[in-house]
Formats: sequence, structure tokens, C-alpha cells
Amino acid sequence: MKSPFEMTQTEMTSFGYKIVDEIVQHYTSLNTKKPVSKASRTEMDALFLQEAPEQSMPAEDVLRFVMKNVIPNSNISTHPKSFSFVPSPSNFVSIMADALATGFNIFSGGWMLAPAAAELEIVTMNWLLKIFDFPVKRGGGIYTSGGSLANLTAITTARRIKCGDDFSDAIIYLSDQAHSSNIKAIRILGFQKHQIRIIPTDNEFKISINKLKNEIAKDKLHGKKPFCIIATAGTTNTGSVDSLDSIALICEQENLWFHIDAAYGGAAILSEKGKIALKGIEKADSLTVDPHKWFFQPYEIGCLLVKDKSWLSNTFSEKPEYLKDIEGNESEINFYDYGIQLTRRFRALKFYMSIKTFGLLAFRKAISYNIDLAEETELLLRKSANWEVISSATLAIINFRYHPLDGFLSEKELDVLNQKISEKVIESKEALLVTTILQNQVVIRMCLINPNTTLQHVKDTLEQCELFAREILKDWTKIS
Ligand SMILES: *Cc1c(COP(=O)(O)O)cnc(C)c1O
Repeated sequence: MKSPFEMTQTEMTSFGYKIVDEIVQHYTSLNTKKPVSKASRTEMDALFLQEAPEQSMPAEDVLRFVMKNVIPNSNISTHPKSFSFVPSPSNFVSIMADALATGFNIFSGGWMLAPAAAELEIVTMNWLLKIFDFPVKRGGGIYTSGGSLANLTAITTARRIKCGDDFSDAIIYLSDQAHSSNIKAIRILGFQKHQIRIIPTDNEFKISINKLKNEIAKDKLHGKKPFCIIATAGTTNTGSVDSLDSIALICEQENLWFHIDAAYGGAAILSEKGKIALKGIEKADSLTVDPHKWFFQPYEIGCLLVKDKSWLSNTFSEKPEYLKDIEGNESEINFYDYGIQLTRRFRALKFYMSIKTFGLLAFRKAISYNIDLAEETELLLRKSANWEVISSATLAIINFRYHPLDGFLSEKELDVLNQKISEKVIESKEALLVTTILQNQVVIRMCLINPNTTLQHVKDTLEQCELFAREILKDWTKIS
């Protein structure tokens, strides 16, 4: 039988080039596009909901339909005015590397199936180990789909190494600013509510060291077994970094596993300011970083680094009979022994190709620029009588709210006002700018990790916010 999926060389070339052209066109015209797309389930159902077709149609027609309906109904996370959540600025070399990895469909699970893929994971992991001042020989790591899976892999390893099979009395500690993926991971692993301690943060949004120490002492007194502290280096809300040196000391004294979730902030180590902010990060037993955030990689690539790679193999390796022929020797790593997935896509390729192409210096420059831009934004806000800075620029994140000095607005009114400003910006689709809550206040949050974002983009957005604010306030005076 001739494969029903066969295409001629001409068809493949024409189809492939069309897609490349679309991506290049998109990438070079971001400034003319709006970053926000809004659509309801009803609208999307109207466009797409249908039975799986039994019959074929030309690939070009499917592509045309997708370009018309699918792509425009997605936010643009690479857009310079995409300020919310954690943007993903990405880079073109890595985008094409992903196409290569998929095109050749390289299995990145075992050495024997793709020695070079495993080698590139080892080599780029060594680069990261060195960047974070982890031991390169003893240390190791694994690429995951993202930070969530890296945290899950870390906590699974921590539990295995510290508790073995019985974790019924084990207690884990994290702050109220820790990322939700940690709690998810803890729940997936079967810990119960009474085994989780959520420690309050101080006015800089860092975990309170005194409260942490007190909780550990109390738990020990009650015969519980503290086993792990999760610190955050770059919280998603404010970019705050927990006091890593102090937590490292507690972990050493109490024999606890020290996990640092640096999914967002870790990349800042490549800049001078970030290096200072992340002091102590090298003391972690395990460290999550997320290359699809501030290392400018396209989705999906997360990463877990550990001080001792045998911790991973002791946690995850199983030896089923159908894999016995590819076990190989110890230096030829089978990454399925280091984590959850067996079949894995070749994530290391994009990281490798982009670092080789641009050099680390390009990454350092971009990250320093991002941190400086957030600081310039803070200066701008502090100079204005209409804006109040709620958390200062930290690792390129800043939180603020519209608060006119002559407005005589109550806290409640300020919350509603700022919520409405964000809603109006989103409605205009000009910028992706949403709120978060800090110390019970609704605040506007900007995460400025896109090297294509300029101070002018920020200024334009703030001006737009002020315009909307005046409109909202005018409506209010009319009503009252
Ligand atoms: C984004 C983030 C995560 C989750 O990472 P994903 O790649 O979205 O799974 C975990 N922790 C922190 C601090 C984050 O910012």
C-alpha cells in the first residue's frame, strides 16, 4: 500500500515554505499587531466545532483556515506590549530548532536511540550547572516541559532521598508567595493538608525567616519530620527573592532538602544585578529554572538542576525487560532514568543552537536591559502624582496602581478603579496588562522581560491607562 500520508516533494516544499513565510512575517511585524485576542467559547465553537472529517482536503486549505481563524485567536506572548503573567519573548533560531527536532522526530529518552541528543542535554546542562555554580561533575539535571514539571520532579526526588517510602509524618515548607505549581506537585505526590506549611511573607514579599524557624521547631516538638523547604528566587507576583543564605543555613542545621524555585528569576544570574539578587542560589540541593521564560526559548522547556545526579537516578530509574538492551553504561545517560517521561522531545537542541548562535553575551545584555527597563519604569511612576509604586522593580517585575493624590478615593474605590483600568486596556487589545493582589490591594503588574519592549512602549501604555482612569472617574462623578 502507498502510505495515505504521502506527499510529493513539491507539495512538501511548498507547504513547508508557506509555514516558514508565515512565521517570519509574524515575527517581523509584531509592532503592527495587537497582543490581545478575546473570544468566547460560543464564538470559538461557531468557528471550529465539527465532527472529525472522514474525507481529505488540501493541506493548503487547512493551513489557510488555521492562519485565518486559529492564530489570530491567540494572545501574542512574544509581543513587546505583552506585559502580563510571564511573557515568552522567544527567538527565531530556537523556533527553527524546534522545527528541526520535530522534523527529524528525535527520541530524546535513551542514549542508544539518539546519542547526540543525550550528549547535547548533558552539555547544555553542564553550561547551566556552571552558570549557577553547581558542581559540574557530581551535579546533573533534566529538561522538562516547564517549571511545573521541574518542581514536581524536584519534590519527588526530595521525598525519595529524605523520606524513603514512609512520608506519613513528613512536613514541607513554602511561602504564601510560592508558585501554585508547588502546591499542585505536593498534592499530586499524595501529601495531606496537615503536612504542608504555608509561611507568611514580610513586607518585601520574602518568606519570614523567624516564622519559618518557629514552625520547624514546633513540628519537631510534635514528633513530625520536616524534610524540605521550597524557596522562591523571583516570585511570579513581585520578582522577590527569599533570603537564600538564611534558608540554606536552616536546611543545613535541620538536615532538610533545599529546593529553590527559580523558574521565573533564575536566568537573571547572567546579569550583574541579578547575580547580586540571587546570592546563595548555588546552595540549593535542587533548582528549577524555566528556559521558556527569561532564557528566551519557545515553549516548552523547563529545567531541573540537582547537586548530585545519582539522586535523580535513585528516584526515577526502573529496569523493565523491554528496555534492557538500551541500558548501556553509566556515563551514557538515559534521561528516562532521570525523570518522569520515557518518550521525550529533543528540548536541548533549541537551547544549544540559540546559545551557540548568539553567545551567552547576548543573553546577558538582554537580561540586563530588561532589569534596567523595569527600574526606569519605576522612576517614571514615582515622578508622577497619579501613580503609586506598590512593589519596586525587582528582577524586571514592577507593581503599581493608579492613585491620584487629589482623588480622595477609598481603598475599595482604588481597587475597582485599577481593575477597570486593566479591563479597558485589555478591551482595547493594545496591551496585555492585568492585575494581581498584593497586601489586599488590587495592583497592576508589569513583567518586562522582552528585549523588544522599549520605554516608549511602557510610556504609551501608562498614558493609555491614565486616559481610561480619567474616563472612569468622570463617569463616577456623573453618577454620584
Ligand atoms: C512560571 C512559574 C512556574 C511554572 O512554570 P511552567 O513552565 O508554567 O510550568 C513555577 N514557578 C514559578 C516561580 C514560575 O514563575
